[in-house]
Amino acid sequence: MDCIFCRIVQGEIPCKEVYRDEHVLAFKDIHPKAPVHTLVVPRKHIPDANGLAGVDPVLAARLLSALAKVAEIEGVAEKGYRVILNCGPEGGQEVGHLHFHVLGGRPMGPMVCR
Ligand code: 5GP
Ligand code: ZN
Repeated sequence: MDCIFCRIVQGEIPCKEVYRDEHVLAFKDIHPKAPVHTLVVPRKHIPDANGLAGVDPVLAARLLSALAKVAEIEGVAEKGYRVILNCGPEGGQEVGHLHFHVLGGRPMGPMVCR
């Protein structure tokens, strides 16, 4: 399987790391859409949000906890930030390894555009 985020997790492709623990890696998005744009991924390959139904709920909780840690590290915890999880083609998911986007550093505007 050729998964770009698995390769980042394994250190085969470099990234600008923001946070790591045993289960989670967070790194800067290569094409940032805001001053802060960090991706939070499980180290284990999970294709998308649907896959969360079949994993240990503790991993889901670890991912949510990592979002808050990333916001703190990135300095946006107090001012606020947006978390986006795209799932599947109509959700706009381009990389098939579950990831949350943490966006901030400016007002993020309306939730969705038409
Ligand atoms: P999606 O559209 O799947 O929710 O978001 C995928 C994100 O991954 C995009 O924002 C894109 O810029 C980012 N991305 C794709 N390839 C790489 C990469 O090799 N390194 C990093 N750091 N980000 C990537
Ligand atoms: Zn993967």
